Formats: sequence, C-alpha cells, structure tokens
Amino acid sequence: MIDETIYKYALINAAKHKGKAIEKAVIGAVMSNEPQLRKKAQEVSKKTKSIVEKVNKMTPQEQKRELQRLGIKLEEKKAKKKKGLPPLPNIQEKVIMRFAPNPSGPLHIGHARAAILNHEYAKKYKGKLILRMEDTDPRRVDPQAYQMIQEDLKWLGIKWDQLIIQSDRIPIYHKYAEKLLQKGKGYICTCKPREFKKLKDQSKPCPCRNLPVEENLKRWEQMQEMPEGKAVLRVKTDLKHKNPAIRDWVGLRIVEEAHPRTGKKYRVYPTMNFAVTIDDHLLGITHVLRGKDHITNTEKQEYLYKHLGWKPPTFIHYGRLHMDNIQLSTSKTREGIQKGTYKGWDDPRLGTIRAIKRRGIQAQAIREAMIEIGAKIADTTLTWKKIYGLNKNILDDMANRYFFIAEPIAFKIKGLPEHLKGTIERPLHPDHPERGQRKIPFNGEIYIQKDDLKDAKLLRLVDAVNVKVRDKSLEYHSKSLEKAREYHAKIIHWIPIEGSIPAKVIMPNAETIEGLLEPDAKKLKTDDIIQLERFGFARVDKTNKKITLYYTHK
Ligand code: GLU
Repeated sequence: MIDETIYKYALINAAKHKGKAIEKAVIGAVMSNEPQLRKKAQEVSKKTKSIVEKVNKMTPQEQKRELQRLGIKLEEKKAKKKKGLPPLPNIQEKVIMRFAPNPSGPLHIGHARAAILNHEYAKKYKGKLILRMEDTDPRRVDPQAYQMIQEDLKWLGIKWDQLIIQSDRIPIYHKYAEKLLQKGKGYICTCKPREFKKLKDQSKPCPCRNLPVEENLKRWEQMQEMPEGKAVLRVKTDLKHKNPAIRDWVGLRIVEEAHPRTGKKYRVYPTMNFAVTIDDHLLGITHVLRGKDHITNTEKQEYLYKHLGWKPPTFIHYGRLHMDNIQLSTSKTREGIQKGTYKGWDDPRLGTIRAIKRRGIQAQAIREAMIEIGAKIADTTLTWKKIYGLNKNILDDMANRYFFIAEPIAFKIKGLPEHLKGTIERPLHPDHPERGQRKIPFNGEIYIQKDDLKDAKLLRLVDAVNVKVRDKSLEYHSKSLEKAREYHAKIIHWIPIEGSIPAKVIMPNAETIEGLLEPDAKKLKTDDIIQLERFGFARVDKTNKKITLYYTHK
C-alpha cells in the first residue's frame, strides 16, 4: 500500500519535472497529501529512493501509461489566457503609431500603458512606432528626461523606429501657423484673456476674429517680438460649440523662458494640440491611441485637420487607469525629491518605471498587465496586487532561494551530537536541481530569527535538526523530520554564524530591514533576483561587504 502511494506521487512528480522525479519532493508530497502516513515517515523515506529510481528509468510514455492505469488525471496547467489585443479598425496602409510623452520627468506606470499598447499594435501590424518628445512648453521640460524616457522604454522592451523631438521642429509649426492665417482659419488675438473668455462664454467673436488676412499676417510678424502674454494665435472653431474650451483654442503662444535645448532661439511655441496635429499628419500617423482624457483635444485637433485639408488619423481613446496607492504625479514626485522625502526617481514608494525596475518587477509583468487591460474605453483599476501576481509567475521559476535572517539571534545548540555537524545542502531552486546546491555549514552555532522563537517549544531547523527552546538557549532534541512533524514543530530557516553576510532589505515603503544572509549569498551579483525563503522575493541592488536588496513582494 505504501509502495503504491509513493509510486503514484513519484509518477506525478516526474510528470512535473520532465520525467525525472525528485526524491525529496516526492516525500514532501506524500507527507502533505497523505496525513495517515506521517506516522510512517521513516518507512516512506526509506522506500522512496528506490521507487523514484524505478520511475526515473521509465520512458515518458511508460510513465504516462502508468498514470492512466492508476486513473490519475494530471491537473493541466490552465491554458494561458492568451487574449492578446483586439484588432485595430481601419487598416488600409502601413500602420504608423506613436508614443508621445512630455519630457518632464522619467516615465511612470501610467505612461507604460500608452507606450506598450502603441508598441504592441505597431508590432502586430508590422508597422512603425515613432517616439515623439513633446517639449514645446519650455517650462515643463526636464533636460534629463529625454535620456531617462529612452532608458525606461528600453527596459520595457519597447523599440521605436524613429525619434522626433518637437523643439527641433519649431519652424515647421510656424510655417503651418502662417498657412492657417492665410486661409483665414486662424487669427492673432491680442485681447486680454479675461475679456476673450467673457465673449467666448457668450459665443461672441472677439474684435480680432474678423480682421483681414493681411492684418493677421502682419500681427504674426509682430508677435515674434512681443512680450509674453500679449498675443496668441487662435484656431477658429465653432463659437457655439457646447464645450467652451473648444471655442477658438490657442494654437501658438509666446514663451519667454529659455528652452533647455534651443535656448532663446524661439519665442513663439505651439501648444500641445497644435504641434500634435501637425506632427501626426506630417509623420503619417495612421492610428492615435490615447487616453480618453484627450477626447476634448481630439475634437480641437479635428478642426485643424479640416482647416488644412488633411485626413485625420483613426483616433482610439481608452479609459482611465486608476492606480491604487501608486504615487504617479511627476511634479509631486519632483517636489518630494527636492524636499528629500524621496531618495530619487527610483525611490521604492514611487510608480516610476525606474522604481519598479529597482524593486525587481519584470518588464514582462507590466507588459502583460497592460495587454490584459488593453485599450478598452471602460475605466480600470490596476493594483499592486495584480502586478505582483503577474510578476510572481515570472520570478518563481527564475529566482534562486536563499536564507535571510531578519533580527538575528545567535545560539550555540546545546548537546548537539558531533556526528550531526557537517554541511547541509539545499537546492538553489527546488524545481531546478541542475542549478546546483547551496552549501550551509552546520556546527551548531547559528542565527535564527527573533520572531520564530515566539511561543515555540520545539523548532525544526530546516534540513538539520530539531531543537527544544529553553529560556535563553536551544537544546538538541532529535534529528528526523518525522519527529518534528510528530511534535508539530514549526520548521524554520537558520544560518550559520560563521560566514554569514550582513545584508539589508529596502522595503516598498522605503524602510530598511537589517539582517544576515547565508554564506553562499556571496556569489550574488547586482540585478540577481532571489527568493528569501519565508520572506519574499528581492532584487540584489548592491554587493559590497554588505548586500543591499530591494524587496519585490511575497
Ligand atoms: N504629449 C501628450 C501627452 O503625453 C500626447 C498626447 C497624445 O496626443 O497622445 O499627454
């Protein structure tokens, strides 16, 4: 009977591991699934070795047949919901999409949606992706952002075919401003903003609106020299439009601030809506995929397409993405960095791409989340929990395991038999024996975690021995796992005092947990992702004398 049960679990385990069952895993499975056999743990241990050997000698077909014969149906890994993105409408020519961030800071997870969706669609249709830096407001440009954005995109796995920087193209916008004036579809307005607004709100034209073309062209010339705020170029729309914001919107304005890239070369800058329209047309963008907070902008832009006799691209607006507990605002973040609240753009409390990366979240997890959310118009909420779930699927297989002891307490185990001292071996990864073993010297002088002592009478030091918890000491009790089970001992991790490595873990709330890592952690390199057993996943950030880790999630 016992043989048959072990045989069954060995077959199941073999199926999970490419036909090769792992002895320890089989024992573990028997113990946890067949509680009645726990009393016979020793017998199970003894028999498993030969049964596993027998199973491992069988061909995959034989193993399969045996599973069938025993009526065991393996839980098929749920076929991955490979939903992918729904098709884009209006596919007639080569698809050209763009991601158009403002270089006011690095990207955050909110930007990732626009970036990933545009990239995915460009790939899907073998089209082209343009990265366009929208920097026509000199006051909102962070000179470092051009570089940071490109780094962030590269990390996200986004490749663009062309880089456009709008501040390189000011003469182009000026040319189309003039064209618009020539066509009588725009005008230079010198009204005080407050006066203009009063008229506009009553759907009345301001005195500038109906000036002749020549006068407007003259004013346009003069505008290049005027002080900031004295004149704007307005794009004619419908003064009766139900949304006053759309009525005769501003296409170009004077900004006296030096631009970080072009200095004081220009004074008249296009607004976002003006530059976006000109560029989307000139760059041949076929599909504009953006948030529904841009719907009013789309409407404004449609007037400009019409005035210039251009065919608008297909506009697709997706819903808002609410993000729970994620600090996203670039200006607030910048303020926080300046005040010293945040350590930098990659502070673990932030939702920037660089913060997420530093914490060991994988670009693939972000991509999967965004594809799942897609471009639907309904609002969605994205939680850390969701991101962690996707990320864990990736990390589980990738991360090697190590012991980390927070709040270590040192003990010398009393009464430890000499012959039980030695080196414990533990797999770097339970499902990947080929990655090898960690070697953990065990001479009875150990650290354990303070909180593991709470209410404990008997503890099992995993893979080593069972110890009785005395007032201020640990005392050897027994060796076997079965004994530990019998006494319901908590199984805890531990590390040897000798060779332990000082470490600190930076938590998502930026708190630091000091502790110690097992000796083999000395092999770790920056950017390795590991699992601290019983603690959580973490990314190796620095490896000096002290190892710094960033906590990812449980
Ligand atoms: N620079 C704009 C933004 O980031 C682009 C909007 C768009 O047209 O997609 O909001």
